[in-house]
Amino acid sequence: MPLIGRHKTPCISCGFAAPHVKRNEGKLPYVHCPECGLMCAAKNGTQARGLMANMRPETGAIPEPPATDNPIIVKADPAPAAAPVKPASQVTPPPPAPRPAASPFATLLDHLKK
Ligand SMILES: [Zn+2]
Repeated sequence: MPLIGRHKTPCISCGFAAPHVKRNEGKLPYVHCPECGLMCAAKNGTQARGLMANMRPETGAIPEPPATDNPIIVKADPAPAAAPVKPASQVTPPPPAPRPAASPFATLLDHLKK
């Protein structure tokens, strides 16, 4: 199953950008998608010629990376700047831990302990 080129249109099933065009020796060419496995074979010479007309040769047929101005591509933000470090004199101490709420029975318990 020698690869002879890439089809110019994406796979109709999965959208893979460059489905393979292959041809067995002495046979008609066919399109094979390596992503989803879809195969479409030419059944006669007319179909084979049409398939070959929509093929680009394998050399240089690797799909080009999408343009960088493609709005779908989200560019990563540059590394955030480090937060400025305050001098020790401006660092506020952490607030004191909240005191546990007094029990409504505290007064009664204190009275009973006596
Ligand atoms: Zn596919």
